[in-house]
Amino acid sequence: TVKNQLHNYYAFYNEELKKRIIHNKEMEDRMETALAQHEFCAYYQPKYDTETKKIVGAEALVRWIGKDGKIVPPSDFIPVFEENGLIVVLDEFMFREVCRQQRQWIDEGREVVPVSVNLSRYNIFYSAFVQKYQNILEEYKIPPELVPLEITESVMSEDQELLKNIIDELHEIGFSVLMDDFGTGYSSMTMLSSMPIDVLKLDKSFVDDIGDNRGEKIIRSIIELSRSLGIHLTAEGVETEQQYEFLKKLQCDDIQGYYFARPMPGDEFEPLLK
Ligand code: C2E
Ligand code: MG
Ligand code: MG
Ligand code: MG
Repeated sequence: TVKNQLHNYYAFYNEELKKRIIHNKEMEDRMETALAQHEFCAYYQPKYDTETKKIVGAEALVRWIGKDGKIVPPSDFIPVFEENGLIVVLDEFMFREVCRQQRQWIDEGREVVPVSVNLSRYNIFYSAFVQKYQNILEEYKIPPELVPLEITESVMSEDQELLKNIIDELHEIGFSVLMDDFGTGYSSMTMLSSMPIDVLKLDKSFVDDIGDNRGEKIIRSIIELSRSLGIHLTAEGVETEQQYEFLKKLQCDDIQGYYFARPMPGDEFEPLLK
């Protein structure tokens, strides 16, 4: 009967929900331990000037290296941390880690480049965040230009007026603000006219379409658009020579992707800096 089916459905649903709650609770405990035991670290993926192929920056990407030495990818744990709010702690840890690392490289006399950090939408709307990040910069004596902030386009679905005010505040301090995964949101074009974004990171899904006639036309118009608006454009997820050559021909500013380099630990990235 329908009633029986419903009953079974809810029993199943409850069981699933219970499993998820237990899983999240376990993750939460594991994360707290992991933070305390320094199991998180930053990997660095270089960004290259398309024309000169010189390193012009990098992006810090979190990695969880468990006690068994296995690397857990962000896609396995970031969603859980976003659900339980611990993402705010993780993002702050990453920001601090990059500031600490930049300070060390500066003290060693290296020519440092900006290393961007990712910010979850929970963090950007968390009122204490701007002051907190500013304090960390001061603690390590790092100029804000050396740690740009990447926010994903999905934050555009939240309060846009508030977001604009926060970006203005970040600009006053001296931070650059990058729009990550550009083109995947439903409001990409509206966003461009109202948000004072410094850099667009063209989402990998567009780069994947290079070779396809329509796909190439779309990229061409995004590049022209960003140029006419005076916004810097970085293409992400560039994997092949063909994609690189196409982006070079169209004079896309910067490139990030496996074709040039994968995310790597700090001690591998370091020798790439002069
Ligand atoms: P994202 O910020 O868009 O970072 C780019 C992702 O694409 C990274 O995955 C990077 O390793 C990968 N990637 C770069 N080049 C290529 C390529 O040529 N081909 C392919 N297939 N992939 C490429 P990763 O490190 O697994 O990170 C995934 C996402 O997790 C990031 O996407 C970002 O949204 C999030 N994330 C990573 N670290 C943090 C963090 O510290 N805080 C927050 N809030 N999110 C983070
Ligand atoms: Mg990013
Ligand atoms: Mg990205
Ligand atoms: Mg992305």
